[in-house]
Amino acid sequence: MADKENTDPQKMEKIVSLCKSKGFIYQSGELYGGLNGCWDYGPLGAELKRNLKEYWWRKNVQERDDILGMDGSILTHQAVLTASGHVGGFSDPMCDCLLSKARLRADQIDPQSGTAYHYTGASHEESSWSVERPFSVLLTDPNQDENKARKTAKEYYSQFLSDKQISPKKLSLQGETSSEEKDTTRYNPANGSLLTEPREFNLMFQTKMGASSDDSDPNAVAYLRPETAQTIFVQYKNVLDSSRVKLPFGIAQIGKAFRNEINPRNFTFRSREFEQMEIEYFCHPDDGLRLTDEWLEKRLCFYEEIGIPREKLHILDVPDGERAFYSEKTYDIEYEFPFGIQELEGVAYRTNYDLGVHQEHSKKTLEYFDEETKERFVPHVVEPSAGCDRTALALICEAYDVEDLTKDGGKKDERTVMRFKPCIAPIKAAILPLLKNKPELVEKAKEVKNLLQPFMNVFYDEAAAIGRRYRRQDEIGTPFCIAIDFQTLGEADEDGYDLTDTVTIRHRDSMEQERIAIKDLLPWLLERIR
Ligand code: ATP
Repeated sequence: MADKENTDPQKMEKIVSLCKSKGFIYQSGELYGGLNGCWDYGPLGAELKRNLKEYWWRKNVQERDDILGMDGSILTHQAVLTASGHVGGFSDPMCDCLLSKARLRADQIDPQSGTAYHYTGASHEESSWSVERPFSVLLTDPNQDENKARKTAKEYYSQFLSDKQISPKKLSLQGETSSEEKDTTRYNPANGSLLTEPREFNLMFQTKMGASSDDSDPNAVAYLRPETAQTIFVQYKNVLDSSRVKLPFGIAQIGKAFRNEINPRNFTFRSREFEQMEIEYFCHPDDGLRLTDEWLEKRLCFYEEIGIPREKLHILDVPDGERAFYSEKTYDIEYEFPFGIQELEGVAYRTNYDLGVHQEHSKKTLEYFDEETKERFVPHVVEPSAGCDRTALALICEAYDVEDLTKDGGKKDERTVMRFKPCIAPIKAAILPLLKNKPELVEKAKEVKNLLQPFMNVFYDEAAAIGRRYRRQDEIGTPFCIAIDFQTLGEADEDGYDLTDTVTIRHRDSMEQERIAIKDLLPWLLERIR
């Protein structure tokens, strides 16, 4: 649960608004009022997410000899998710507010203390109408008197009135009693109303395959996968056989997952459709715990490399009783989001549970034979499972900065700057001719653009004064701006130096400028954007 002390709602509002105005992230289906829990990445967001995924893939697949990639289908065989336990048990406890009908996750309600007022029913004397139903209201503020509770209770009972002309105020409440409550989670923190008892709610999206009209045909049922992991486990044997790898080895996958979250919230943090970046690292049972610690360290380094500093990351060693029952060790890597410290990734030692249940249900052996020791066993697995959208959001939150550049006695001057690492930045370099009405400058700038464009995402901009154009790039996090000026074309500078075919590079963070020969530009940039 988010730690309220560490939240900064105003900052989050500004980030959400910048994401929309600059084209990072939009609400899905906004034109029609929005689809709750779903988000679309705009031009810059799509680049950012691609850069993140490509960096993860390069580090975890391409640059490693012991990890192979795969790309599994989203539609998943019912039997796979029955074996994994998702069909029977992938659920969250949910409850409904009796007054507003809002649906809440029972395990995410902050405990509250106060006085609860209980009623057995209500009546309306003039029309001899009455209803008998227990209802309660919690008042957490000691300065509020029972009239506040009565008002809420009357609102609740008024929903059962068939005669809508009767005002809730005219109702008489029955059987009022009160009790002192400590750390209760039975009431809606938003309005004090009693909640229904928690019920288990399966988070999977179910669908039907093929043209069968028979709704009872169990073979027609398929699911949108709730995690990418299961597609890896059920292809483990194929990957092993087709690649002739030896333990320990991993299978990595980046792909969409779907969960019908009860309460999607905190922008993209908890969505109903999201992307995961997962590795299932198969190993000998003796190595599981050690490898879990090693993976934790590797993953922390990864976050640092992409621009999330170690001091903003928290490691939660999930205690016994809170881990999945099959896991012997789980670390949650958490980040200080503006809405609180929340999970980015889980690194879990899942033992041989997954391969074990798939072996049992499919009745096909998933054992590994070790040629050297002549041992036969079901491999154990360590799983670093990261959320792509959550990491993208952490990158955006971490990059966001407003710098005060006001000079002494001068006009207020604030610079919004997204301090993305160059490897993550959506646009790597902006190419800016000093003036747009000088054809020679424009022509040269376009030459520079054509030189760089096959290798990286660049942006050409000739509109407005150069200072304004720099600021526009700062706001979207472009690390380098390349200005083409009269010195580029051969005009001597004020000290008489010949700077023909050189350009000015302006650095986003320091705002410092340096001069570089066009012929050196490509290697100079390539070295810095990887
Ligand atoms: P949470 O406790 O936040 O619901 P979880 O522990 O259920 O997450 P896992 O099943 O371990 O999550 O999934 C691995 C990763 O997938 C998470 O660390 C997170 O980055 C990402 N993820 C899970 N659910 C969502 C979601 N609803 N929206 C966005 N990302 C998600």
